[in-house]
Amino acid sequence: MAAAQRMGMTAEHFIGGQWRDEGERLAVEDPGTGETVGEVALASRETVDAAVQAADACHRSRALTAQKPERRLELMFRVAEEIRRLADEGADILCRESGKPLDDARGEFEEAARYFEYYGGMADKIEGRSIPLGDDYVDWTVREPYGVSAQIVPWNFPVGIAARSLTTALATGNCVVMKSPEIAPLGMAVLVEACERAGLPAGAVNLVSGYGHDTGAALVEHPQVNHIVFTGSVPTGRSILHTAADRVVPCVMELGGKSAAIVHPDADLDTVLASVKSGIFFNAGQVCSAMARVLVHESMHDTLAEAVREQAEGLRIGHGLENPDLTPLISAAQLERVEAMCSNGIAEGATALTGGQRVERPGHFMQPTVFTGVHPDMTIAREEIFGPAISLTSFRDTAEAVAIANGTAYGLVAGVFTRDLDRALRTAQQLEAGQIFVNEWFAGGVETPFGGMRRSGYGREKGLEALDNYLQTKNIAVRLGAGT
Ligand code: NAD
Repeated sequence: MAAAQRMGMTAEHFIGGQWRDEGERLAVEDPGTGETVGEVALASRETVDAAVQAADACHRSRALTAQKPERRLELMFRVAEEIRRLADEGADILCRESGKPLDDARGEFEEAARYFEYYGGMADKIEGRSIPLGDDYVDWTVREPYGVSAQIVPWNFPVGIAARSLTTALATGNCVVMKSPEIAPLGMAVLVEACERAGLPAGAVNLVSGYGHDTGAALVEHPQVNHIVFTGSVPTGRSILHTAADRVVPCVMELGGKSAAIVHPDADLDTVLASVKSGIFFNAGQVCSAMARVLVHESMHDTLAEAVREQAEGLRIGHGLENPDLTPLISAAQLERVEAMCSNGIAEGATALTGGQRVERPGHFMQPTVFTGVHPDMTIAREEIFGPAISLTSFRDTAEAVAIANGTAYGLVAGVFTRDLDRALRTAQQLEAGQIFVNEWFAGGVETPFGGMRRSGYGREKGLEALDNYLQTKNIAVRLGAGT
């Protein structure tokens, strides 16, 4: 049973190949209406322990690693098929619990299937190398999994992000305990059901749900966890790193961003506008790599500002099931926070060309918001808003634009818009971020490495690079002719 208990919108824990319930449950809300639509089981420390024991037992049994790697590839391809079978049901659940458009929720399941194919295809290509040490030795390296990988998932793309870390771990032979976010936890249960249906060995994939400070903390503190993948906010990442440091556990940290697009005077306006639309209004701006800031050449500032205002005011706002342009924020608390940050921006001297307040209707809707006159020192230019609010700042020359773009504590992604290839590449060279988009925000896919510099975190997810974070190297050195 799963697919969020066959659309009853409840989810249990998945441990050692079995769905398990516990007494306490947490309500799941539809952000588009504010009404309770489901519930999820809360994992106690004992439940977390059972999940880690199941993963550890699977790791020690070598169920994932003893067989030919092509078997892992086959299993992962089978999961991709099962995800596609469950995608309509899953998208409906994800849309209702997260507020995102139904088509985007469907896209998230397709992305999850792609991760299983992409990393499934890597499972039989993980190789060591031989190291020449002269005729008296044979020496080679083996790339081994860490064992139990604990993965803490945020609410903004719970299915896509869970799949991205889970697949890298499975391809490299790690066993996984995932913790779903306390908000929007049900879509991940559908992903796990696909793993169950495909016949992954019991204990290879485990799911617990619950609050971060409770279930999440119990998971990352567990002495049998050998590897941690965290995607979420900087304060939580920092606290997990402290815990990990005590036991010297390696971590992948995908944290926040305050990413800037630099719009040069020769940029194509329609290209920029299309990227603004997806860059800041996709998922209601609740995207770590959102286009939070636009740095635009002074000669183009007023034209672009007016066009972005017009675009924002033309967005169709609605419930995710209607596939509108702009959906609600995830929760009342998040709406409160985003609205307060916007008010603070106005108090600090920015101009809200449009928006800046909540939409008066049921659910947690924020107006699409466009700020101009944003000085790099303002809080809205430095800290994540995590909502549909974009800041425009004008610049005089490329050096100034690059300095402003690089001037926050973050370094997740950045973008350049220009028709001049030379200028695009020179600007890209100077930007300090893990990924640079030229003439299309969010260009790339599961194949392109993603991760931050500076406070945005370290380690890479996606692409071939990600495999390195899930493997440790063992060297075997053999002295020939001993005793002869
Ligand atoms: P969050 O840090 O509050 O929570 C993320 C996850 O951590 C949740 O599952 C939560 O339950 C868990 N958690 C909280 N405290 C914990 C603890 N002490 N120990 C273990 N787990 C704990 O973040 P959020 O509000 O869910 O997500 C929004 C943030 O995540 C934003 O800052 C955003 O930029 C960032 N984010 C980053 C990426 C990326 O890939 N870089 C992707 C999505 C979101």
